[in-house]
Amino acid sequence: MTENIIENYQKNNLVDPFNRNINYLRISVTDRCDFRCVYCMSENMTFLPKVSLLTLEELYRLASLFIDCGIKKIRLTGGEPLVRKNIMWLIEQLSTKINSNDLEELTLTSNGSQLIKHANDLANNNVRRINVSIDSLNEDLFKKITRWGDLKKVIEGIQVAKKAGIRIKINTVALKGVNDEEIPNIIKWAHDNDMDITLIETMPMGDIDGDRTENYLSLTEYKETLKKYFTLRSCDYKTGGPSRYYICEETGGVLGLITPLSHNFCADCNRVRITCSGKMYMCLGQDDSVDFNSLMRSQATDRDIIDLIHQSIRLKPISHDFKIDKYNTLPAVSRHMSVTGG
Ligand code: SAM
Ligand code: SF4
Repeated sequence: MTENIIENYQKNNLVDPFNRNINYLRISVTDRCDFRCVYCMSENMTFLPKVSLLTLEELYRLASLFIDCGIKKIRLTGGEPLVRKNIMWLIEQLSTKINSNDLEELTLTSNGSQLIKHANDLANNNVRRINVSIDSLNEDLFKKITRWGDLKKVIEGIQVAKKAGIRIKINTVALKGVNDEEIPNIIKWAHDNDMDITLIETMPMGDIDGDRTENYLSLTEYKETLKKYFTLRSCDYKTGGPSRYYICEETGGVLGLITPLSHNFCADCNRVRITCSGKMYMCLGQDDSVDFNSLMRSQATDRDIIDLIHQSIRLKPISHDFKIDKYNTLPAVSRHMSVTGG
């Protein structure tokens, strides 16, 4: 063990080889989903066998050990996190870590389909903010993009969540020839309803039924189109992710642009990801992973697991390898976004 690692152990600190402080963990609690968004999944997906999933108790143990190592923010994602059976149990347990000040934020990325049912329980368990994905406000187009989604339910879910005191941020994947003309309207709708919004470039992850390059829209270029509708003022807000933020002067709302392909911001990355089967991905855009599943199921002590957490952080690469253009039609990484979450 190098001196550096020993020092980080003592400080409850995770620092990667490029001196980035890792304090943000995303947990994909399921790879299953009640939608089949065209850029994310094929219609007939093969999901992981249930036996390979970590139980909620195992996920909680692992998350707690990450918190002991210095993780301060946890985002639950998927697949659709709210379709995992008994997910509220895990959220209740993680909420106790907020009460004890060991964790600063517990949040979710969701398609919003189950919010009507769960929003009040989430609010009662320290969930203060949720990202909800909406790629169109046109019911037919929403159905076409999500294949199985119902826009009305999602909007109603957002209203219930807002009423419960949860702040909503909208995520919209920008798709050339699909929703690009509607995007200024979606931004205005979000801001008029007191929600920030982030636009996302399609990332080449996992096989889908079509060719992603056809719908890829460079947000670095699309920003010029947006300037016809809004005066965009850069703002300093940073989350350690690949998003850059602007204030739309006309609405006063915040607009984020996630541009991993047209502009790479890996230098500030502060996060790692755990899948529902216990694989840790040090980077969303690389295939390298570390398996916690077999260790956790082999009578490992907490110390063994903490050792593996520290060793894994030493493997975090400097940046992703995403490319999307007409010469690169194959996915850069073979797994779907639903395996590691967004
Ligand atoms: N089901 C939840 C949802 O849709 O918000 C959480 C998981 S989903 C994988 C997280 C985010 O990733 C969503 O905003 C979704 O639109 C986005 N996403 C999925 N596949 C993507 C891809 N290939 N490229 C870019 N964004 C993607
Ligand atoms: Fe499901 Fe989210 Fe993927 Fe859509 S983007 S299929 S809602 S996991």
